[in-house]
Amino acid sequence: MKVILVTGGAGFIGSAVCRWLIARTPHRVAVLDKLTYAANLHSLAPVSGEPRFSFHQTDICDAAAVRAMLAEHRPDWIMHLAAESHVDRSITGPADFIQTNIVGAYTLLEEARAYWTALPRERAETFRFLHVSTDEVYGSLGAEGLFTEHTPYQPGSPYSASKASSDHLATAWFHTYGLPVIISNCSNNYGPYHFPEKLIPLVVTNAIDGRELPVYGKGANVRDWLYVDDHVRALLAILAKGKPGESYNVGGHGERRNIDVVETICTLMDELRPDPRLGSHRQLIRFVEDRPGHDFRYAIDPSKIEGELGWRAEETFETGLRKTVCWYLDNEAWWRPLRKTYGGERLGRLADAGQVKS
Ligand code: NAD
Repeated sequence: MKVILVTGGAGFIGSAVCRWLIARTPHRVAVLDKLTYAANLHSLAPVSGEPRFSFHQTDICDAAAVRAMLAEHRPDWIMHLAAESHVDRSITGPADFIQTNIVGAYTLLEEARAYWTALPRERAETFRFLHVSTDEVYGSLGAEGLFTEHTPYQPGSPYSASKASSDHLATAWFHTYGLPVIISNCSNNYGPYHFPEKLIPLVVTNAIDGRELPVYGKGANVRDWLYVDDHVRALLAILAKGKPGESYNVGGHGERRNIDVVETICTLMDELRPDPRLGSHRQLIRFVEDRPGHDFRYAIDPSKIEGELGWRAEETFETGLRKTVCWYLDNEAWWRPLRKTYGGERLGRLADAGQVKS
């Protein structure tokens, strides 16, 4: 039984981590989350009454509050997921990304180092700090090739630059202080409880409402999609078997062009919730102005995590997407209130980038 501190546990991936840990392991889970717009306590409803679970509204930039949580829970492992995560928002308002993703990661690393240094030797040896990052730090691929753990960092957006900065800090805390840090760089996730401003939930919820389905440019950009529970399994495999100081790319061989993703959702909607007035949900697709600096293609080579840790994605894109569309159809009570704060558009258009917040 481990005690696991999960930062960002009220977000999309963090809440999936918590639901998985409580349902399928004996571990105790303490969540540290600031509750930004991206957080949703309803995503933690399945675990919130569980004695092995606790939630704390805390900012990772608040060193004293982080220190108090470490002293209270005395974690064996830290899973660091708290971040500003939406590329579109990083274009129109980068300041929060610098603060949380860089200053926050630094604060957490420093507090973790102080905590780890004071641990008894046996506990210090098995302590792990898993820094959860993205494949976007590698920049954009052309039509060929895959990201490996040796691909040079070349972040292109304020989001990916802030994540790349925190990856470098995490690596430095391993090399300089010996803190047992491991980094994971994962491709795009999708699945239940995903805030409906990101491509897949945005398209699904707009399609349910018979609204336009906005696609950047010609929809030719390629992303490598991974079902969120496969990512959770990968993170736990990395914690249990990964080597401190190493990084692991996580991906499930799920490359798709954005337009193919949208059309597949339309096909599923035509089958699961047909709309005779429309004929096909494809009628709702609208191409909109591309976002600035839109990376063309991401694709992960997961052979290291597959070969060394024995992890493989279990869902194909087709099985995972079907589960996801069914979940949104069955769980309107979760996402419908979010539509009141968010209108269903894409958020990273050049026209908005002139109004960058300080
Ligand atoms: P999310 O935006 O859904 O959730 C982020 C969570 O972090 C929210 O609950 C938010 O309240 C919390 N948070 C933000 N600022 C905070 C602060 N200063 N202090 C404490 N908590 C704070 O993000 P997600 O999609 O679940 O991503 C989680 C992590 O995984 C991020 O680090 C992201 O970079 C990484 N990642 C995401 C994807 C993806 O496709 N979503 C892919 C690879 C890596």
